[in-house]
This record gives sequence, C-alpha cells and structure tokens, in this order.
Amino acid sequence: MRDFSYLRAGSVDAARQAAALPGAMLLAGGTTLVDLAKCGVAEPETVVDITHLRGLDTIAVDDRGATIGALARMSQVADHADIKSRFPAVSEALWQAASAQLRNMATIGGNLMQRTRCPYFRDPANFPACNKRSPGSGCSAIGGVTRGHAVLGTSEACIATYPGDLAVALVAFDAIVHLGDRQVAVDDFFLPGSTPEREHAIEPGEMITAIGIPASAAARRSTYLKVRDRQSYEFAAASAAVGIEFEADGRTIRDLRVALGGVATKPWRARAVEEALKGKVLEPEVVRQASLLAVEGAVDHGANHYKIELAPRVVARAILKMGETA
Ligand code: FAD
Ligand code: SF4
Repeated sequence: MRDFSYLRAGSVDAARQAAALPGAMLLAGGTTLVDLAKCGVAEPETVVDITHLRGLDTIAVDDRGATIGALARMSQVADHADIKSRFPAVSEALWQAASAQLRNMATIGGNLMQRTRCPYFRDPANFPACNKRSPGSGCSAIGGVTRGHAVLGTSEACIATYPGDLAVALVAFDAIVHLGDRQVAVDDFFLPGSTPEREHAIEPGEMITAIGIPASAAARRSTYLKVRDRQSYEFAAASAAVGIEFEADGRTIRDLRVALGGVATKPWRARAVEEALKGKVLEPEVVRQASLLAVEGAVDHGANHYKIELAPRVVARAILKMGETA
C-alpha cells in the first residue's frame, strides 16, 4: 500500500471540495477502500474521512417513502422497523450481505460504490490486463476462469459482475441517489459494462448524501432471494428482488417489480418479466415461462453458463413466494 495523506472533513462542502482534488478518495466504513488499497487497485493520494459528518446517518420513513443517509450503517438500515415493514426486500438484501461485523462498519453510500469482485481486477500484480483498471489493456477474465462473471450487460471490454445486494432492491423500487445538488435515478447511477473504467454517474467533487425510496404497494410486499455457494458471507451467484401488488381478487397482478443481482454488470431491472406478468393471474407455469425473459440477450463465457439457467428460477421462486403471502 502506498503512503497517503489523511484529511478529516468537517462538513459536506469541505468533503466535496477535498474529493475534487486529483487522487482524493472518500473514506466511509473503509471495508472496501482498505481492501482495494492493500491489493494495489486503489492508490489514493489523499483519504478524505467522512465518517464523522453530522446528519448523514439518519433514516426517515413516512407515507411517501424512505430517505436513508449515506452514512447510515448497513445493519442499522436492515434492522429499522419501518424499513422492514415497508421495504422488506431492502432489509433482506442487507441482512444477506457480507457478515455481521462488516454490516456494522459499512455504510449505505460505500455499499453502492463497492467495486467488482472479479479476481483479475483485484490482482494487478499478476494480471496487468484489465480494462476496468487500465482502459485499453485488455480483459484477463475473457478466456480465463469465468464462473462468477456476468452474462447480462457485458461487452467485449469487460464481463465483471456488479457484486452488491442492496442496489438490486433499490433498482427494483425506483430509488433515487442524492448527490447533494442533484439527484439521479439509481438505474442510471450504475453504468453498463461498455464503460468498464467508469461504473457510476458521479463526478469528481460529488458524493452520495442520501438514498430516497418511493413508497409503493409493490415495495411493501417484496422479498430478496439470494442463491450463493454457501448460505452466509458470500456474494450472489444469482439473486432477485421482487415486489408485487395484486388486484382486489388477490390473484391478478396489478404491479410487479423484478431486478436481478449476481448475473449482470450492474443491478439489472428485468422489465420484460414485469410486463409479461402484469394483468395476469399468478399461476406457477405462467410465472416460470415469463421468468425466462429475465435472461433475454444473455451471453455466457463457458463456466458462467449456469447463471442463464439459475437466474430465471430464482426470479420465479421469488415471485411465487410473494404469491403465497397474498
Ligand atoms: P468504504 O470502503 O469506505 O468506501 C467504498 C468506496 O465508496 C470508496 O471508493 C469510497 O471512496 C466510496 N464512498 C464511500 N462513501 C461514499 C459516499 N457517501 N459518496 C461517494 N463515494 C463514497 N456487499 C454486498 O452487497 N453483499 C455481500 O455479500 C458482501 N460481502 C462482502 C464480503 C467481504 C469479505 C467484504 C470485505 C465486503 C463484502 N461486501 C458485500 C461489500 C460491503 O458491503 C462493502 O465493503 C461496504 O458496503 C462498503 O461500505 P463502506 O462504508 O465500508 O465503504
Ligand atoms: Fe477487468 Fe472487467 Fe476483465 Fe475483470 S472482467 S479483468 S474487471 S476488464
């Protein structure tokens, strides 16, 4: 790890000014930044500590929705009574992420900004070719070990998977990322695999200050289903955030939200599945057929082919689970 200067920001404005300087990086919980600095991927000249900024760790929920401060801890949000009752998929996504110790340290802003777990990206000493680290250098994963890599939103430049859980639920429920002076829909905040060197719609000198999630009936009846190699402390092989609203008959789907994790270069909204099922009566075979649309256009690289079969099953299981609660 190279030497860096440490600056403790006294206000949001001071943090943003400092973050605009070349080589500056924000430090929140540090659970990603320190790892990336140790393996030589992140080489900050200045680390701008924002952990002590006041007012950025609040969670407010009312009938219009939730506003979650960027410095709220993952565990604090996961365990918040109103988040659990009005946005269960958000709470469940957080509970199934990382470990208890990490959730107690890590913040919501840092969580959205986490980087891919592509092993080639995280090993610059042995794999210099990585378009995400060094644009134009190539991609060591294509032709390498691809079991964890993406099948949706990939390009010839990069097939890295977006690894986070929370953002999948946020994309399903049209959350908004607050960047101080401006706001960006979370679906637009994450950029696709065609620009591997640029993952987020955030400019130098900007920072996430909060996340807004609009209230909806679909968010209230929602779940996050995560399939992984082991039941705890593991990233998703495939996951789905699903929310559903029924007509008064309790069987016909009025509104449906579906987003996928673990299979795409960004949190992936599966709108084709939503459109195929809206207005239909929830029947297992209809749901299974529609869920196949979740992987429309998927491209595999050998060892990750299983994700194309797994993802629709995860989607279907999550939708049917929500049907059982009707
Ligand atoms: P930091 O490490 O402090 O920062 C991360 C990045 O975000 C840095 O680039 C920093 O500059 C930037 N940043 C921080 N705050 C802001 C802000 N407000 N505005 C703009 N930029 C900001 N995540 C999952 O979702 N699911 C998992 O299963 C999972 N498993 C994990 C397992 C391990 C072993 C580890 C180490 C991590 C795992 N994670 C998982 C990732 C974990 O959730 C993130 O490390 C964590 O959320 C990052 O938050 P932080 O506050 O520690 O961020
Ligand atoms: Fe780098 Fe993306 Fe290739 Fe991984 S998949 S080596 S992050 S370019």
